[in-house]
Amino acid sequence: MRRAQTTLRTTVSIEGVGLHSGHPVRAHFRPAPADHGLVFVRSDHPGVPIPARLSSASTFDYATTLAAGGVSIGTVEHVLSAAVGEGLDNCSIEIEGSEVPILDGSALPFVRLFHAAGFERLEASVRPFHLSREVSVTRGDRSIRYEPDGSALTITYEIDFPHPVVGRQSLTIAVRPEEYSARVAPARTFGFARDVENLRARGLVRGGSLHNAVVLDDTGVISGPLRFRDEFVRHKILDLLGDLALLGRPLTGHIYARKAGHALHIEFARALAAAFRAPADKGFARSPQPEAAIGS
Ligand SMILES: [Zn+2]
Repeated sequence: MRRAQTTLRTTVSIEGVGLHSGHPVRAHFRPAPADHGLVFVRSDHPGVPIPARLSSASTFDYATTLAAGGVSIGTVEHVLSAAVGEGLDNCSIEIEGSEVPILDGSALPFVRLFHAAGFERLEASVRPFHLSREVSVTRGDRSIRYEPDGSALTITYEIDFPHPVVGRQSLTIAVRPEEYSARVAPARTFGFARDVENLRARGLVRGGSLHNAVVLDDTGVISGPLRFRDEFVRHKILDLLGDLALLGRPLTGHIYARKAGHALHIEFARALAAAFRAPADKGFARSPQPEAAIGS
């Protein structure tokens, strides 16, 4: 993967509600120079940039939150997924509020917004993140594994929820903009109606509704038709891509994820970053080495 870094051609904005706060929030996406990366800034703390990097990752309770300099920004994973999926490398994302708007619960509104702005190629190349050996994290029956594989990124995700419309779903996606926007970006977040009261008591999902999530009861979907029969596993791929954006560079290889979630996604991204920093592997070695296993 040798391509020019990109940014948006012009500033674009979007408005919605925060998933957890329920408050109205506006987001502005501005062009940024090469090597700037994806950086959030809250309009009430304009001097405190919050880079979309692993060093900023703070909590992963039903969403990924970033924090820097005592300022946090919540629910970043869908907009970051859209950026990674569409190949947007540099952008300043100003938020009038404390979390990114949830919109329809998918990444599609962000993809459409980026397309409306258009992409500008910059005078610098991306430096893809590539390892020459396996990395895996395992927690019980949940796991994520990285395998070196070619010059692109492929994700295989498998979920298994004991529910009549979910069940076992597995999907492999080659992460390219046209594939991402058609097969991954439209997949919405999902949750169970019976969890809502408990989550609201904890100050979460106050902006959640049948309009921004696939909502399940014990037997079916109560929020209208699905966009894909396997919308659930597609959204897991969407979330994983958003969390991997925190590596700060495009990733190449094949990732196999099983029954994971935000916390394991971030742990896996940290294991990848650590393996990349290890002196034995700067990404140039050609022969496979023993697996770097983390966890039990
Ligand atoms: Zn999500």
